[in-house]
Amino acid sequence: MHINFAATDKPSFAKALGQFATRCAEHISMAIANVKLRYELHDQSIRDPLTGLYNRRYFMDSMRRETVSFERGEKGFGLISFDADKFKTFNDNHGHEAGDLVLRALAERMVAVMPDDAICARIGREEFAILVPKTDLDEALACAESLRRDVEAIEVRTAFGPLPRVTISSGVVAHDGGATPPSVLMKQADEALYVAKAGGRNRVEAAISTTS
Ligand code: GH3
Ligand code: MG
Ligand code: MG
Repeated sequence: MHINFAATDKPSFAKALGQFATRCAEHISMAIANVKLRYELHDQSIRDPLTGLYNRRYFMDSMRRETVSFERGEKGFGLISFDADKFKTFNDNHGHEAGDLVLRALAERMVAVMPDDAICARIGREEFAILVPKTDLDEALACAESLRRDVEAIEVRTAFGPLPRVTISSGVVAHDGGATPPSVLMKQADEALYVAKAGGRNRVEAAISTTS
């Protein structure tokens, strides 16, 4: 904060004004700190601390919003649900910290390769989901397949050398209108994900698209 006094101002007036300005500045700085804190708390409440991705609650809310804002003639959204393959074995062999490094690397790649308006979330444990707005099933499948290939190529280095590569299995569903609740869409994507696991892992499977 910068205050200018006119050369003609009386010293007593300048002093009083200076004190008043200081009090104002204190109030303003406190208000700004409060707003910042509120933003930080809000951010913490919608993000996963390990990866910085959105959390499950925010993801489900986003899906609800997208479902409601869907308009006739518009493309719906694609939902990709994916899970790291054989991650328990990875942790058992290389430790939980190494596993965390891989989850972070996976999250970074996910955000880097998905469209800017995609909502990338960690749903829990080694499970993730992506909402790709204005996307049909074919486009969502292409996104999931390109992510699968990118993840397969991730090399995480540690002080002890590179870690083995981790793969993911994905289930994809497209919301193309109707009132299908987010929880049902999620279930459909997860069912496709289980098919991908049963089919040998490191693959993408489509669920049936919905129009209910
Ligand atoms: P699948 O291919 O069938 O998914 O096998 P999986 O071993 O990945 O599945 P399972 O559900 O048996 O194990 C998931 C493992 O993920 C268990 C746990 O060791 C690991 N995991 C879950 N959350 C975290 C985490 O926050 N950090 C790390 N490092 N590991 C985690
Ligand atoms: Mg897994
Ligand atoms: Mg899992």
